[in-house]
Amino acid sequence: MRCLYCDRMADKVSLKSLFLKEDELCIDCRSRLVLKRRKIRVQEMEVETFYDYDGMFKSLLLQYKECLDEALKNVFLYEIADYINLRYMGYKVCLIPSSRKKLEFRGFNHLEMMFEQVKLKKLQGLRMKDELCQEGMGLNERMKMLDNFVYDGKQEEKILLADDVLTSGSTLLGAYRTLILCSKTVKVLSVAYKNNLLI
Ligand SMILES: [Zn+2]
Repeated sequence: MRCLYCDRMADKVSLKSLFLKEDELCIDCRSRLVLKRRKIRVQEMEVETFYDYDGMFKSLLLQYKECLDEALKNVFLYEIADYINLRYMGYKVCLIPSSRKKLEFRGFNHLEMMFEQVKLKKLQGLRMKDELCQEGMGLNERMKMLDNFVYDGKQEEKILLADDVLTSGSTLLGAYRTLILCSKTVKVLSVAYKNNLLI
């Protein structure tokens, strides 16, 4: 199989790739994604993250989200989907919604596709009030994200709120504060962490 990132034929494969689930990255590219599970506190919320948003992770995510390379959808959660499925058994996953503009631009929902390997039930009903687009936002605009979510779904026991990159924390915190009003437990997860929290 060819590696989806460097396009080389894989001459070596990992044991996991051989026996359990095929990795679509070669061993060299995979080794450049350093798994680093951490908990980051953002005010009253704790976010579990798995990768630093830099180097290889950043290149892959840009290729997926901005160069619209849908084929990469499975590489981000390859190492962590099994952990998430076990650790959060019984939780419903609520993904941060994308703006309509971004969905139209991409033609696919990048987060939904990234989380296909997570077998937990999906929770619908979290929406943005305004279609704010996070990229290029200043601090003031980011603060608006704190009050930019509504949830019109059912009351739930356990929710796992998830996003791809934790940047300022304002998006996840806004969504968290909305969901915690109608759920006993809300855990928060971000696949990667960009080290510049502003709030
Ligand atoms: Zn490769």
